Amino acid sequence: MQAVVIGAGIVGLTTGLALRRAGVEVTIYEHAPEIRAAGASLGLWANALAVFDELGIGDRIRAIGKPSAMYFHDPAGKRLDPPEFGVEDHQFVLVPRSELNDLLADAVGRENIRLGTGFAGYDEHPDHVTVRLTDGSSAAADVLIGADGTYSAVRAQLVPGSAAQEHAGHHAWRAVIPPSGIELSENRLLLGTHGTRGGYLLNYDGAVYWLVNQFNSPPLTGSRKQQALDRAAFLDKGILTDLIAATPDELILHNQIMLVPPLPRWVSERVVLAGDSAHAMSPHITAGATLGIEDAALLGRLLVPGGDVPEALAAYEASQLPRYADVARLSAAVEHAPTPEEFARTYAAFTHWMITQ
Ligand SMILES: Cc1cc2nc3c(=O)[nH]c(=O)nc-3n(C[C@H](O)[C@H](O)[C@H](O)COP(=O)(O)OP(=O)(O)OC[C@H]3O[C@@H](n4cnc5c(N)ncnc54)[C@H](O)[C@@H]3O)c2cc1C
Repeated sequence: MQAVVIGAGIVGLTTGLALRRAGVEVTIYEHAPEIRAAGASLGLWANALAVFDELGIGDRIRAIGKPSAMYFHDPAGKRLDPPEFGVEDHQFVLVPRSELNDLLADAVGRENIRLGTGFAGYDEHPDHVTVRLTDGSSAAADVLIGADGTYSAVRAQLVPGSAAQEHAGHHAWRAVIPPSGIELSENRLLLGTHGTRGGYLLNYDGAVYWLVNQFNSPPLTGSRKQQALDRAAFLDKGILTDLIAATPDELILHNQIMLVPPLPRWVSERVVLAGDSAHAMSPHITAGATLGIEDAALLGRLLVPGGDVPEALAAYEASQLPRYADVARLSAAVEHAPTPEEFARTYAAFTHWMITQ
């Protein structure tokens, strides 16, 4: 069986690895000239780590990870620990995104990744799919996997009218900065006033990842640093503010949060979506990549040499569409939580569900 994967982000690379381990021949096409990872650090939850263990790279991932816990603090600084959930529901591993993608690219085999080659379109036939590429060439495969992110061109062809939409007023600012002399005794995640969330976490190498988000933000003014500082004032006037102040503006990433609308389908007979291309969601549940890694693992289990591709894709969709309806429901409960206590409780309810079901 031959597979073409579009996109060498975390989900495309993990899908490539899962398929190769299942004995499928894989070529990944990435339109960027290099393996890159937009973003700073990333929290991986137990379900993602279990997939990486299954794929034989769990130890290498943990070697670039820092075990961390997601406990929120209210605006008065009180740690919120909903009693109905255990420590395991809060635990995740923080990894630097670029190191993670490099590690995955090595595991897939760089000879199986074509950089600087974008997806232009596909033609589906009963027994194969032809993938047209931006360099004018084409590739024939048994299956095409669109792991090309929020603005997926594969999705645009598979599900017309499914363009990503702004999550109105929802913005995120983040950076990873080298040790800056600011003393951090512990990670801290805060729920502030005015729809803000944020905090800081230590990476495995001593660098610090800070993040600030705001729902229903007023229009943005000033530099990225000023925008982040303005929101941090609703969270903490101490370490978080100091970390942002110490960050050069060019290191600060800002995102208008984008969402993929719920899709009526994720597959055709020979084309399938995985990761953000299928379900880019609000990052207030910090689990988009973790859930995309589940997609990759499932495709690796279902697409096997000699197997029936349309049947495998139908089974994938039958599993994932209802799962994402549950994700959407649980995520909305967190987003609309009226108090910090309720935010912390619904958040733990989501992670408990994600790592146990
Ligand atoms: C602020 C923020 C914080 C987050 N924090 C977390 C977290 O802590 N934990 C977590 O699990 N998730 C988190 N997420 C979600 C996570 O970032 C995404 O779910 C994840 O990166 C999606 O990976 P992906 O591989 O599907 O897409 P991407 O990472 O977007 O990769 C898509 C790839 O496809 C390539 N591509 C695009 N179009 C084409 C084309 N036409 N041809 C060829 N290649 C193409 C792109 O260049 C890119 O390399 C966060 C998101 C945000 C915005």
